[in-house]
Amino acid sequence: MKKIEHIGIAVSDLTNSNALFSKLLGKDQYKIETVESEGVKTSFFIVGETKIELVESSRYDSAIAKFIDKKGQGMHHMAFHVEDIHKELERLNKEGFQQIGKVKEGADNKLICFLHPKTTNGVLIELCQEK
Ligand code: ZN
Repeated sequence: MKKIEHIGIAVSDLTNSNALFSKLLGKDQYKIETVESEGVKTSFFIVGETKIELVESSRYDSAIAKFIDKKGQGMHHMAFHVEDIHKELERLNKEGFQQIGKVKEGADNKLICFLHPKTTNGVLIELCQEK
């Protein structure tokens, strides 16, 4: 794994949160993107070498909707940049980490896959590879 690519934060209202994080970070998001397959709308802010991803649910039954129902808004996942997602998953699976589903297309022009938090001390981990 190369670096922390971004930190994902679950929010209930993306418009309000974009305004809040613009104020906090002193700059605007550089993109807003809907990922239909995940049922989410996301926005990205660059902070130095990494990014903040705000994630709002666009469907009542999305994973983000369930997360916010259970835990409220807040830190949702940490994403690591990897060169070769398939190779990295093979290594991690051998080490006993459990991936959630298959590699898929994520926001921000990435191939992504999540690791189950029960195998990573309660932290939802996303791997992402530049497409
Ligand atoms: Zn993410």
